[in-house]
Parts: sequence; C-alpha cells; structure tokens
Amino acid sequence: MRRRMDTYLAPLVESERWSFYETMCAFTAEAIAPELLTWERQHCLLPATAIQAMADMGLFGLTVAEEYGGQGGTQLDLILMGLALGYHSQSVAITPGAATSLGIKPLQLCGRDEQKQAHLPDLAAGRRMFVFGLSEPGRGSDATNPEVRATRLPGGWRLHGEKCWSTNAKWASHIVVHALTNPEGRRGHRSTCFIVPMDDPRVQYQEMQGKQVWMQSSTGAIALDQVEVPDSAILGAEHDGFRVMATTLNGGRLFISALALASLAYALDRCCSYAQERVQFANQPIGRFQRVQDVILDMDIALEQSLTWLLHLVRQYDAGTLQRESAAKVKIECSRRASELLPLAMEICGGIACLDEFGLTRHWRDLFVCRVGGGSNFALKTLSTRPLLPGIHDILQ
Ligand SMILES: Cc1cc2nc3c(=O)[nH]c(=O)nc-3n(C[C@H](O)[C@H](O)[C@H](O)COP(=O)(O)OP(=O)(O)OC[C@H]3O[C@@H](n4cnc5c(N)ncnc54)[C@H](O)[C@@H]3O)c2cc1C
Repeated sequence: MRRRMDTYLAPLVESERWSFYETMCAFTAEAIAPELLTWERQHCLLPATAIQAMADMGLFGLTVAEEYGGQGGTQLDLILMGLALGYHSQSVAITPGAATSLGIKPLQLCGRDEQKQAHLPDLAAGRRMFVFGLSEPGRGSDATNPEVRATRLPGGWRLHGEKCWSTNAKWASHIVVHALTNPEGRRGHRSTCFIVPMDDPRVQYQEMQGKQVWMQSSTGAIALDQVEVPDSAILGAEHDGFRVMATTLNGGRLFISALALASLAYALDRCCSYAQERVQFANQPIGRFQRVQDVILDMDIALEQSLTWLLHLVRQYDAGTLQRESAAKVKIECSRRASELLPLAMEICGGIACLDEFGLTRHWRDLFVCRVGGGSNFALKTLSTRPLLPGIHDILQ
C-alpha cells in the first residue's frame, strides 16, 4: 500500500533525494520493523547489529561533508531519514538522528579545523558518537545557567557536575558538555562547551531506568567528577556555549517535528486500512461511519499541512535563513497535532489499538517526547512570541 505521506512528500522532493528516502523505507521495512516487537517486549535497547547496519548505510555521516568521509547530505536528507525510520519507530530514528543533528552538529557549526579533522571521519563512519550534554537534573528549560561548572586551570579546565537525558549515552565516545564558566556574565554569555571523552575514568555513565518512551534509544545520566580537559577541548568561543547549543537545537527541532509527523503518518495509514477492513452493524466497513471519516480526514489535513510547512522550513535551514522561532513553532505544532490525533486514531481502531503489535501505542507514547524533548512546547512558546510581543520581551531580558 502506498503511504499517504508519500503522496504529499513526492512532489516536494527531488528525484535523487526521493531514491534515498525509498532506500530508507525499504531498509526500515526489512531490517527494523520485523524486529521491533521483540525488542520492545524484551525492553532492550537497539542492538549493536542494527546500529552497525545503519553505520554501514552511512547514516551517521549523512550530513557530514564528503571531505571528512560523510555523505555530504543536507538537513532535507536527515528529515527524510527521520520520516522513513520514524514511521515504524521514533526510537530507532532518533539514534542516528540525535547522533547527527545534536551530536555532530555543534562540531560542524563551531568546531575548529583541527577538531573537525580529529573527529568527523570517525563520527561519519559511526566509529565514534557525540552526545549533546545540555540538560541537567536541576536545569531543563532554563538551560542558560548550567549547574555543571568549569573552573580554569593552567592550560585547561576542571569540570564538575551531572548531565542527564543524554540521548545515545550508551554508545557515546564523547559528550559535548555545556558548563558554567562565567557566572557574572550576561544571560546567554555565561557558559562554554567542551568536548569530553567518555572513557575518562572521571566520567561515569548510567542508563536512566524506567523510561517508557523511545524504548530502543539509550538515554543516560553522565556524571563528571572533577574531570580535567585541555583548552583545546573548548568547542566554539569561550563563554559562548549557550549560542552553540541553541543554534544546534534549531536543526534538532526540525528533526523532532519529522518524528511527530512520521507517527501521525503511520497512524493515518493504519486507520485507513482498518476502517475499510473492519465491519460492524450489518457488515458495514466502519469507514462508512461519519465520525470515523471525520477523524481520518483531520489526520490527513494535519499531515499534509504540517509536512508542507516542515519541508518549507527545512529548505530555509539548508539555505541558512531559518529563524529560531520558526523551528520552535513547527515543533510545537507538529507534535501538538500528532499528539491530539493519535488517541482519536486509536479510538477508531477500537480494542485492537491496545495491542503492541498494532503499533499505535508505541507512537502514542513516543509523541510525548516530541512535546518535551528539544525544549518543552510550553517553554518554547515564550521563545516563539518574541517577535510578536517585543515590548514584553524587552522587559523580561
Ligand atoms: C527521551 C528524552 C531524550 C532527551 N535527550 C536529550 C539530549 O540528548 N540532550 C539533552 O541535553 N537533553 C535531552 N532531553 C531533555 C529535554 O530537552 C528536556 O526534558 C526539556 O528541555 C525539558 O526540560 P525538563 O524535562 O527538565 O523540564 P522543566 O524545565 O523542569 O519543565 C517542566 C515543565 O514546566 C513547564 N515550563 C518550564 N519552563 C517554562 C516556561 N519558560 N514557560 C512555560 N512553561 C514552562 C513546561 O510544561 C515543562 O514541560 C531529553 C529528554 C527526553 C525525555
């Protein structure tokens, strides 16, 4: 069956990019989808073999320049990968998705030449993985004031504190740590980013237990116990760490939007099939009932509108013209609409929607992360109203 999403996507994507998307869909259908239920029921993270298969396809180097051994792709490729993998599982998609859009991106945006030479070839090949160390137990939305501190030493820095919610922590070779370096500085100019190796004996990783979303994705707490790094570990400029992280998050928010739409697309296809197969009341397909049509059409409208908007912004991102507020707004809207519609999709499928093998409960759970991850939707509304209410925001600054 042709996916409804593809009807909207095909006219928006050049033929070469479309071939890549189809390859990704085929890979997901053959190598990932048949295993998902087993992985979920066993509560296991993505197996090393699946990560290696993705590395072999070049997914960890998708947006890395060819001169560093990457595929030389764009944000559009990343979004297509997110849509294809996320259609079956957001938590599988987020593994290469976070590795590239959050892990590698700060290095691409702000790294010095020697840092790029040192890391990008291994990152592109999937031999290394960076994690994005912004969130902390005491600092979520208010990320401009990290509790992780870096104090100056001769020729280097000493870092202390804890990061949490770090996606891909289990597989990480390095963490990009956002740390307080200039407590008296202006808001947004108090922190610096450091590249810290995970194999330092003073870095401790623990997988966060009990997580019921993104089940196959690794999410870690990472403790830094007086870790010493040289000056050369600084990523970007000193006291400019928040800008590095905030700029990276723009692309991350587009990726999360793609995951939300992938979940919506899966739910829509499921509902369309089921509404035609399932018969009730004198052998009528339930799709004949007006309320069922109502939900299906709302999902279809939401998918077409949101996908079109997202791809428009992705083009802006690739052209370097995307506004921060736009990335926040599209994440808010894609995750909100998909989250509102998923329970209705489940309702029109009835009892069978409760079964894990039907796939809807997975997407319903994972959509929660789309609302909170990459900055919670509520907090992002403050950011997004800046151009609308400049007088208010001048006072808040
Ligand atoms: C599965 C998963 C993976 C993640 N991966 C990463 C990662 O790789 N790296 C990383 O650094 N972080 C990661 N995160 C963390 C994520 O970015 C944070 O959860 C998010 O920024 C919100 O922070 P918080 O959970 O501490 O919520 P808080 O900041 O404590 O906020 C709680 C709630 O308060 C409300 N709120 C807070 N501030 C405001 C405001 N200004 N205006 C209105 N309402 C507000 C919102 O409802 C918000 O949801 C991940 C999170 C999850 C769940």
